Amino acid sequence: MSSGIVYLVGAGPGAPDLLTLRAARLLEHADIVFHDALVHPETVALAARAEKIAVGKRCGRHSTAQQFINKRLVDAARKHAIVVRLKGGDPMLFGRVQEEISALDAAGVRSEVVPGITAALASAAVLKTSLTQRGIARSVTFATPRVGAGEAASHWADGLIASDAGAIYMGAGEAAAIAATLLAAGKSAGLPVAVVENASLPDQRIRYATLAALPRLANMGITGPALILVGPQFAARTDAADVDRCRIHARTVAGSG
Ligand code: SAH
Repeated sequence: MSSGIVYLVGAGPGAPDLLTLRAARLLEHADIVFHDALVHPETVALAARAEKIAVGKRCGRHSTAQQFINKRLVDAARKHAIVVRLKGGDPMLFGRVQEEISALDAAGVRSEVVPGITAALASAAVLKTSLTQRGIARSVTFATPRVGAGEAASHWADGLIASDAGAIYMGAGEAAAIAATLLAAGKSAGLPVAVVENASLPDQRIRYATLAALPRLANMGITGPALILVGPQFAARTDAADVDRCRIHARTVAGSG
């Protein structure tokens, strides 16, 4: 049976203009778009002629079961020429895209991936701090402490411990556990940490801390998606204009660590 193509497209970190031209062009031509809840409405609106379907995936809130999404993508490809599955950031990082690719493969539906700007890269841009700062960080790990229901416990921290720098996704709600794990593994209490919330969006916020002070983030009212960056290069930039006023000062931290 002939079927359309499913494009698994990265929508970037939030700002609608951080989208690739290829993604924009596909959205313009799409017949149907399945998008994550966090994708900016202006980005979704680029799909002017498409039927638009939100398929959940919002941390801690109701989300559409993955198997159901897989089935809907297959069904849509049977009916439409251009199906777009629009995901936050880059689809290949913490995006559950592999389940969707496998389901499409199994159903004989063609698919293509269009990369997007992942949160770690957008956050480094906001901080104006290189993830691989010369002479300081020759390795950077993308990690998450999040373990899905039914998945085996992971050694998520091993890569971070071995790397010079780390970008931790889906970790803001587990800041205390992340700090405890890294400290127990021998990372220093004074290791700089930066937390970027809503990177690239008008309400983006930067918070600087150290590993020892990271647990206090739990009380700092983070409501949007937030990325935790750890590494020697993430000490507070004194010239950062938009540093959040509730940042944790290094002085406070010295006493506690
Ligand atoms: N595929 C996405 C990641 C999905 S996991 C990507 O490549 O970016 C969701 C996590 O990404 C969030 O919990 C948060 O840690 C991070 N994230 C997504 N958008 C973000 C943003 N605008 N600012 C900071 N972190 C973000």
